Amino acid sequence: MPARNTLLLERYQQVQERIRRAAERCRRDPAGVQLLAVTKKFPAEVVREAYALGMREFGENYVQEFELKHPLLPDVPEARFHLIGHLQSNKARKAAELFQTIQTIDSTKLAERLDGMGIKLEAMIEVKLSDEESKHGAAPEEIADIVQAVARSKNLRLRGLMTIPPWSDDPEAPRPYFRRLRELGERHGLAELSMGMSNDIETAIEEGSTMVRVGTALFGPRRKA
Ligand SMILES: *Cc1c(COP(=O)(O)O)cnc(C)c1O
Repeated sequence: MPARNTLLLERYQQVQERIRRAAERCRRDPAGVQLLAVTKKFPAEVVREAYALGMREFGENYVQEFELKHPLLPDVPEARFHLIGHLQSNKARKAAELFQTIQTIDSTKLAERLDGMGIKLEAMIEVKLSDEESKHGAAPEEIADIVQAVARSKNLRLRGLMTIPPWSDDPEAPRPYFRRLRELGERHGLAELSMGMSNDIETAIEEGSTMVRVGTALFGPRRKA
């Protein structure tokens, strides 16, 4: 146990250092880049260890997985959980009950459905910028309608945009996608940009990320599904 905690602490410090250096290189305040610890496929114990080291924002991909984990986490009162995986509308109620932020709103219908649950939520719009079949997200030309749907809602507060570029081990490859997300954020007056993962934290921060979603660089490799 102590060994695992020490390793996590080292990785946490490395990630914080990467964020700090990248921000300083482009004259940004490192405090303007939030770290979202992505704990999908790791047990509740890992969330607790991360919390003990000071992490507070957590990302999970699967409503069903988190539904099992959440009851095992009564002792992390300041933790905030973000859904960063695709949300099917039939799971909207569960998601609203379990998460504080839904980062993957990709239609007006889903926004309305979440609003209808009567639970206050923070919202981000997931934007699809590549033409990969497997990816979810709203097309750039759909953003305006979703922004309006959230503005009309009683319970959702819009924070910004999120995107997942095509996977690549080249940290430069996602740069055009990050840049495009920033342009879309500016166009729609949205301040927050959730972009950047373990491999490309630096590129994302250079392009304006306000929230990097980091799994592997903190927790090591995930088990294959
Ligand atoms: C898994 C995942 C991450 C974290 O990826 P790493 O490469 O492990 O840092 C970030 N965002 C989303 C949407 C993910 O599914």
